[in-house]
Amino acid sequence: MPELPEVETTRRGIEPHITQHTIRDINVRQRALRWPVPLQLRRNARNRKILAVERRGKYLLLRLDNGTIIIHLGMSGSLRICSSDAPADKHDHVDFVFDAQKILRLRDPRKFGAVLWTADQPEKHKLLASLGPEPLQDDFTGEYLHRHTRKRTAAIKSVIMNSRIVVGVGNIYACESLFLAGINPKRKAGSLSLARCERLVAAIKQVLADSITQGGTTLRDFIRENGQPGYFAQKLFVYGKAGEPCAHCGNPIKQITQQQRSTFYCTQCQR
Ligand SMILES: [Zn+2]
Repeated sequence: MPELPEVETTRRGIEPHITQHTIRDINVRQRALRWPVPLQLRRNARNRKILAVERRGKYLLLRLDNGTIIIHLGMSGSLRICSSDAPADKHDHVDFVFDAQKILRLRDPRKFGAVLWTADQPEKHKLLASLGPEPLQDDFTGEYLHRHTRKRTAAIKSVIMNSRIVVGVGNIYACESLFLAGINPKRKAGSLSLARCERLVAAIKQVLADSITQGGTTLRDFIRENGQPGYFAQKLFVYGKAGEPCAHCGNPIKQITQQQRSTFYCTQCQR
């Protein structure tokens, strides 16, 4: 599933190819994505220039002068730049046509993605309005996490995966960040000291930034004619490593289930 680092890498990959370019047409082959692609999208966005390509959480925002196209990659979506005569796969549902040589193509085999339109400020859109801070921005601090976890009895792992607290911390990143910070994923969020909240926030920023840096090496894939842009496997310490020795202490990594998601951690190093 595309997580925040993949979405940010996608943003960086497509941005130089489409910013300041005019959308000449939009071809929708499959309207039934997670939500229907709105009928007014083509009318509103045709012959408009893309002023900026931004990201909020896992949403990509194509800013035009009369509104914003909101794109979510869902479970399996990807975007790439290709020429308009590249044959469309059955999973290639939406094309944004710039000129004969260049289109932006959404492929989404599982159709959980979305292409939406808003004429309002996108921050006010119902999907974005309740999102917490961006993890890599300066307003996400240990002090912020400490303040928002007081009296919370939920496990710290579920709290950092709650997009109202902070956006973009998916399951892999939550497991890895808690390992780096030495925090047991089952620990009650409200029991963490300020110092441990600061360590956890630093770990989240490090894990996400490292993943985005690694994604940068796959940027050229966004202009490949065929195939998926390469989602990337970063070096993992605990995720998917049940039974393997912990890199710090050699104790076998334990796997449990929390909120229907697998959690991997070291019972020695994470307290
Ligand atoms: Zn360990």
